[in-house]
Amino acid sequence: MRYISTRGRTEALSFQDAVLTGLAPDGGLLVPARIPDVSSELDSLAGLGFVELAKAILPRFIDDIPQPHIEHLVDAAYRSFSEPGVVRLETAGDIPVLELFHGPTLAFKDVALQLLGQMFDYILKARGQRLNILGATSGDTGSAAIAGVRGRPAMDIFVMYPHGRVSPLQELQMTTVTDDNVHCIAVEGSFDDCQGLMKRIFGDLDFKAAYALGAINSVNWARVLAQIVYYGYASLQLPGPVSFCVPTGNFGNVFAGYLAKRMGFPIHRLVVATNENDILSVFFRTGLYRRGQVRFTISPSMDIQVASNLERFLYYHLDEDTAALQGFMDTFDRTGEAQLQAPGEELFLATTVDTPNTMAAIRQVYLETGYVADPHTAVGLAAARRLKAEGKVEGTLACLATAHAAKFPEAVDEAVGKPVARHPTLDGLKDKRFRRTVIPADIDAVKELIQNRAGQSSL
Ligand SMILES: *Cc1c(COP(=O)(O)O)cnc(C)c1O
Repeated sequence: MRYISTRGRTEALSFQDAVLTGLAPDGGLLVPARIPDVSSELDSLAGLGFVELAKAILPRFIDDIPQPHIEHLVDAAYRSFSEPGVVRLETAGDIPVLELFHGPTLAFKDVALQLLGQMFDYILKARGQRLNILGATSGDTGSAAIAGVRGRPAMDIFVMYPHGRVSPLQELQMTTVTDDNVHCIAVEGSFDDCQGLMKRIFGDLDFKAAYALGAINSVNWARVLAQIVYYGYASLQLPGPVSFCVPTGNFGNVFAGYLAKRMGFPIHRLVVATNENDILSVFFRTGLYRRGQVRFTISPSMDIQVASNLERFLYYHLDEDTAALQGFMDTFDRTGEAQLQAPGEELFLATTVDTPNTMAAIRQVYLETGYVADPHTAVGLAAARRLKAEGKVEGTLACLATAHAAKFPEAVDEAVGKPVARHPTLDGLKDKRFRRTVIPADIDAVKELIQNRAGQSSL
């Protein structure tokens, strides 16, 4: 399988090159040259667990890693999950809930980042290369990325976060990982400062080449690929056709569901559920894509205004017309907004759930069903309950649960009115040794740190 850029000005890449490249050189996102069709095999695929389904699906997108090696990578990636089946189908009353948070950092990003860590390691070793991963995080992504690559000699990971502005729990999830190749950088500034520093360092092409800098953010194709599997799995386990309600920020998760449907899995509709940062829900209702100010909410991993993965969907929505897509993105970059026909009425539904309604959903779902939902999952549950009450979705509507409630104890305990959000993994963190470096929001300080630390652990 070859990978092509949504902007059409990059030569097609192999899977391995697509994984190492992340963002295409022409500024676009990489997508497979064609979408494999599994619609004639659903009966046999329906008998498979998550791990077996991953082994059946991934090779259709990967032709430069031998099948036994892919199987080995999948086994190694998902061994770190506490749930033997990796994901778990639960229920909150009459709503099926697909729990994706049984990985090492208790958020759904582990499903993709555990596999991506294995793939990086495999590809770098085969090529005799090293990689220095640089990322900026406001919380969740940093710890999942660190958990994916900790202890791997072919890589160092440098994660910047705003000093004093991530939750103490989130900081401990990153800084208590004391493998030599993990470098947590508390930047004296805001999350925007961290992202600005990252962009400037990636923009310094000499430095980027000299230190083999790589990114691990959600534009990486391998992350989408890992996420397709659980949509396929759940669509075959539940009475179908199944619709999915997805709490969304960057559109990475919803896009994986879109591809699973295009592959022929029995998926009916996809519900785009946002918090007050509603750029995506406005877009899917009206076709207007307009950037606003980021609002800070109790579901911080969805406090995003520009959804980087939407570009992949737009590429298909515009019938793979790269010039039309380039025009749309240029207009958006220049003016902060761009307009299309309202996309995919028959496939997508979209709705916004604000903070009071999210808190109410956590409380009501707990009182009515006993299910403890984290604030991100609760945005999805509130959206699902609303759409069902309005009669907008027929058939099974399953919610994706993206984080364990114990990652966000303040909001969850307050909503329920008593302490319900606990997890042993997190309880133990407070007593652990932690390690971080505090630096000013200054590009030279970051570069110096990378220069001094890169590759030290493997010497
Ligand atoms: C990242 C994240 C999301 C949003 O996922 P996208 O792929 O960016 O839409 C939702 N919930 C949690 C807990 C997350 O960590």
